[in-house]
Amino acid sequence: MVRTHGRTLCLCYNLLMSIKTTAFRNLIIDMDGVLWRGDTPMPGLPDFFQALQDLQINFVLATNNATGIATQYAEKLQAYGVTVAPEAILTSAEATASYLQKRFPAGATAYVLGESGLRAAMQRNAFEVLSDEGFVDHDVRADVVVVGFTRYACYAQIASAAFLVNNGALFVGTNPDSTFPHEVGPLPGAGAFLAFIETATGCRPIIIGKPGSAIFEEALIRLGGTREETSMVGDRLETDIAGAHAAGLNSILLLSGVTSREKLAGSEVVPNLVFDDIRELTRHLLSKNGYVPKDHGR
Ligand SMILES: [Mg+2]
Repeated sequence: MVRTHGRTLCLCYNLLMSIKTTAFRNLIIDMDGVLWRGDTPMPGLPDFFQALQDLQINFVLATNNATGIATQYAEKLQAYGVTVAPEAILTSAEATASYLQKRFPAGATAYVLGESGLRAAMQRNAFEVLSDEGFVDHDVRADVVVVGFTRYACYAQIASAAFLVNNGALFVGTNPDSTFPHEVGPLPGAGAFLAFIETATGCRPIIIGKPGSAIFEEALIRLGGTREETSMVGDRLETDIAGAHAAGLNSILLLSGVTSREKLAGSEVVPNLVFDDIRELTRHLLSKNGYVPKDHGR
């Protein structure tokens, strides 16, 4: 039975839905709402990563955000006292570029409706990124149109993306998030740009980010583990948890982000495990492995 208050709910869930200890060998970890909230690190952040290291748990940090690059997230974590190699950080921009790099020859042409992180990721993966200054010439064609969140797009760029999709380019979206959180409230996200082009062309995009499967597949490649040995840790039911299940992975929901206990109680998406935050997850990982270093005993 699920109670709607705090730890009781988590305990009930976890008694009912426990997963094999081997499911913790590899973790795919969401960032916002899990490791930090905006610019505020979650309590227990360094202890969490210390536990992952002590327990030799492999991890990839995965975000639907396509505007930044891995080194920027590594620098953010460093400022919070945690050292993570950029190779362990997977943005939806990186996942998109990697997905497409396996499907197109070097030098294939891409039109990017997005920010610098997405353009850079496509260029690093050997795509020729077309100019986005003004409307593209009428005879220009692209192999692929990649659309992500952007704060700087103008009509000519959105129209160019639609024009190129109408003329045969593969239509790919970094992530389907309809909004992104802002101090003033939710503002249009990547999904809003995708909807604009979908409406104008009648074409549906391939979605790379969560809950799409491509970002999970890329994370699995980097981790080198099996699905049974891999769990997704996230705070959003419809992307992190539903996406993990669709990809055949175990799921761990943390209630430190966008999902309230009330929302979880009414959800059809049911995670394998639920914890309040990374402090409680850390305690669980350490106890499951019978490993209690003195600094983690609290
Ligand atoms: Mg999140």
